[in-house]
Amino acid sequence: MTLDAAEAIQRLRDGNRRFVEQAPEARTRWDPAAATDARPFAAVLCCSDGRAPAEFVFDVGLGDLFVIRVAGNIVAPSQVGSIEFAVDAFGVPLVVVMGHTRCGAIAAAARHLQDGLAPPTDNVLRITSRIGPIIAPVLATVGLADPLRAAMRANVLASVAQLSHGSKLIEELVQAGRLRVVGAEYELESGRVRFLEHEEPG
Ligand SMILES: [Zn+2]
Repeated sequence: MTLDAAEAIQRLRDGNRRFVEQAPEARTRWDPAAATDARPFAAVLCCSDGRAPAEFVFDVGLGDLFVIRVAGNIVAPSQVGSIEFAVDAFGVPLVVVMGHTRCGAIAAAARHLQDGLAPPTDNVLRITSRIGPIIAPVLATVGLADPLRAAMRANVLASVAQLSHGSKLIEELVQAGRLRVVGAEYELESGRVRFLEHEEPG
């Protein structure tokens, strides 16, 4: 079964609805068929946070998604390479960058910006320093109801832009209409994933 991007998004939406309605269908047990037949229908770049596992949130089974998890769903060269691998090896039609509410990486980057509280190590700093410049203008905006949530959303859209333009392979496939890169936010409080619509042309 080969899906296009719109069908892949619909499958994710349907799965998330089942997840929210406490009616998951995905087989989460070991399945020998999955060992020999890897055919993910989408790639997802999401946060390492244990509350935001893409396979659960979208109610999919073994082999259905190609998932890259990194704190703050940032885009560094190894993330770009992983997405390129999914696109090249499996021809996935859709890449989703999914942020989530109450993200610790976003909060850490905000603390560094606002209170000067540096991350505990240089390696953590390498993650938060990618997020800081993206969220600084958001945090400086007066009157936001939920500044950290707005910052999370800005970070997702920045990752979408970085993926879309940080790779010749991805850029060419997007221009050819064979691949879409979209943002999404997962709301821990409700279980719902909302796709960021203005990143979805058509
Ligand atoms: Zn997070």
